[in-house]
Amino acid sequence: MKTAIYPGSFDPITYGHLDIIKRAAKLCDRLVIAILKNSSKTSLFSVDERVNMIRECTKDIDNVEVESFEGLTIDFARKKHAVMMIRGLRAVTDFDYELQISQVNKTLDDDVETVFLSTNLKYSYLSSSITKEIAAYGGDISHFVPDSVAEAIREKYNGN
Ligand code: ADP
Repeated sequence: MKTAIYPGSFDPITYGHLDIIKRAAKLCDRLVIAILKNSSKTSLFSVDERVNMIRECTKDIDNVEVESFEGLTIDFARKKHAVMMIRGLRAVTDFDYELQISQVNKTLDDDVETVFLSTNLKYSYLSSSITKEIAAYGGDISHFVPDSVAEAIREKYNGN
């Protein structure tokens, strides 16, 4: 069984992430979406909220699981017996950092390959931060995130 992990913050999940998830799920037998518990980053959604939101958005994809983890991503990959780590590339601005991380991870564990999927052009501008910024000013985020996520974001900002 070929397992891949797709690590990230997903605060919150966007259509850009979902596009990568759907494509990555076809490349492996099991795709584990791995939400990093990062205490040094302030997040809009708690890790549990993010796990539940992603489960809801991916419930129709059979081979996808959602988990959170602490510590090194490569250790989580090993724990899951993953052979691939999926990352999405939006633009050259992602490249330097992603290349460095993938090389560090390869040094730490030669058996886990980082696989980069380039963004669908439709979503190359899209990030969780942009979505939150637009939502904070009451803008329309229906093109950025699924309805259930848009609703959850609105609740955070409006408290209703
Ligand atoms: P991180 O904090 O690890 O960057 P993110 O949740 O922002 O976590 O992103 C997780 C992964 O998804 C990263 O590889 C990122 O490049 C990718 N990603 C984010 N937005 C998009 C998008 N619009 N299209 C393709 N990949 C994306």
